[in-house]
Amino acid sequence: MAGGWIEQFADAPDVLKTAPDQKTIVRAGGVEVGGGEFVTMAGPCSVETERQLMETAEHVAAAGARVLRGGAFKPRSSPYAFQGLGVEGLRLLAKAREATGLAVVTEVMTAADAPLVAEYADILQIGSRSMENFALLEAAALTQRPILLKRGMVATLADLLRSAQCIVSYGNPQVILCERGIRTFETATRNTFDVSALIVLKEICCLPVIADPSHAAGRRAFVPGLARTAVAAGADGLLVEVHPHPEQAWSDGEQSLTFAEFDDMMADLAPWCELRALRSRAVETVA
Ligand code: PEP
Ligand code: MN
Repeated sequence: MAGGWIEQFADAPDVLKTAPDQKTIVRAGGVEVGGGEFVTMAGPCSVETERQLMETAEHVAAAGARVLRGGAFKPRSSPYAFQGLGVEGLRLLAKAREATGLAVVTEVMTAADAPLVAEYADILQIGSRSMENFALLEAAALTQRPILLKRGMVATLADLLRSAQCIVSYGNPQVILCERGIRTFETATRNTFDVSALIVLKEICCLPVIADPSHAAGRRAFVPGLARTAVAAGADGLLVEVHPHPEQAWSDGEQSLTFAEFDDMMADLAPWCELRALRSRAVETVA
């Protein structure tokens, strides 16, 4: 690694690799992220109703997802938009976990909510808008639940790793990073999916890295292509929005996959995941 270049990550010493094969495996609800298996986390943007969540959980589990996503506390850009079901949403997520065996990831927005969300979730999600809310990072870390840390939409990789370092410094090394697209001048997609982030992070950082093609794309037609790119780039998993009736979704319907589209995406990813597994087995054999 070029001597000076890596210095930009000097504030994140505990998440930088000290050996090329060093990796942190994050364990949550019977699932291992970063351990070799490509882990798909899927579900609605927001938890809306019991029926919507249960149908989605059952469908994505049958199609191969390992983790159920769904927001109960929603960071909405507009004060008039649906803000989430709150505790009722958390209860529904726990019920869906019981019914399907999926682990649950859901966002925590405030430090005060961290212990409550940790009672229900297997993984606490820190959203893009909160990546540098250091009080929240501390409170989330202290719950000792694994943390899914999403890259801020205007955050550099050094900024992202600094926030990851904070969580680790608070005594919680179980951190998953998530590339979800960044703000650029491009308007054809909601955000610009930064595939370089996956390559760079997998090279220098020991933490698992997943991709969220839904919030990057903003439109469902582009989600499967970005997902395929993420697998090929070496991501450890996906976070993807799925809804039984996207046109009726209370949030992010335009980027949510239908059940049929999710099935097609999973089938399309299968050979890429197999290739990825063969490659990592080959690397392990050489090492
Ligand atoms: C989400 O995944 O629910 C979400 C709000 O995404 P982001 O924080 O990346 O905008
Ligand atoms: Mn969303």
